[in-house]
Formats: sequence, structure tokens, C-alpha cells
Amino acid sequence: MTIRPLVILPDPLLRKPCDPVAVVDDEVRALADDMLDTMYDAPGIGLAACQIGVMRRVVVLDVAREEDEPAPMVLVNPQIVWSSEETSVYQEGCLSIPDFFEDVERPAAVRVTFLDRNGEPREIEADGLLSTCIQHEIDHLNGVLFIDHISKLKRDRVTRKFAKAAKEAQRQSDDA
Ligand SMILES: [Zn+2]
Repeated sequence: MTIRPLVILPDPLLRKPCDPVAVVDDEVRALADDMLDTMYDAPGIGLAACQIGVMRRVVVLDVAREEDEPAPMVLVNPQIVWSSEETSVYQEGCLSIPDFFEDVERPAAVRVTFLDRNGEPREIEADGLLSTCIQHEIDHLNGVLFIDHISKLKRDRVTRKFAKAAKEAQRQSDDA
């Protein structure tokens, strides 16, 4: 079990597309396990590999409610093959953009193909929170963040805030 450090805005890794996984082998399963450990520790309900600096198309999720049993999911090379015309709005946050939350409108339901942790091809249809969470994480694999779906004014404001914080942290480590 390894909790890996999270990549935080404005790290350029968050803006790069991730590479497809050729084979779901033990290394990919170990990566997924580390991602789940990191996600539960944060805590969060979804994590993409690029958020721990690994540029591969792997996503983990768990949208089970606190009082329910954990329901970890591993999605390798996930792809949205259908989205509903109907939309829904959820307040989203992101482990790479700590303490910032904003409403985002997305398709209410999606159908997704992916490889599971055994490399088996799977297809699921998701709605509700799972649908939003899957879309948020697949965005990460394409270098897209949830703040790209909010107004430019709000996006610019939060981007500036994180850029300033990063500069401040850099200056403090230079001084030390
Ligand atoms: Zn995120």
C-alpha cells in the first residue's frame, strides 16, 4: 500500500493527454492499488493516474456512500461511447485543486467501455454521481479539468490563486 503525492494545479502534467495502456499487467494493477490508496487517504471519490504523475489512461473510482461497503472500480482505457442529451448539475471538486468547488453541468448518463483490472473488456451505463465522476476522471486523461467547464471569470480567478500559491511555496523553499 502506497500513498503517492498528488499533482496540484498549475502543474503542467495536469494538462497533458495520457497514453493508452497496452496490457493490463501486474504493474498496472499495482498502479491502480496505489491510486485507490491515495484516493481513499485524501479522501476523494475518483482519481486519474496523471494526478499522481503517471501519464497512463487509468482511473479509479468509488462513489459508495459512507455508510455503505466500499465499491472500488478500476477503469483502464475508459472511453465514453454514448452520452445522454439530458444533463445534470453536480457540485464538483478535484484532489488536484484542493478546497475549490463549483457546479458543473454534464450529460446526465453515459455509456463507457473500458478494461477492468483483469484486462477484460467491459461496458457499463452510468447515471447520477457515477456518471459525473466518470466524466470528470476521463477529462483528466485528456488534460481537461473541471474548471474548464465553469465560467472563464471563475476559472481565471482560481487559476491565479493556485499559481500564486505555487510561487509562494517555491519562494519559501528557495529561502530555506
Ligand atoms: Zn479531478
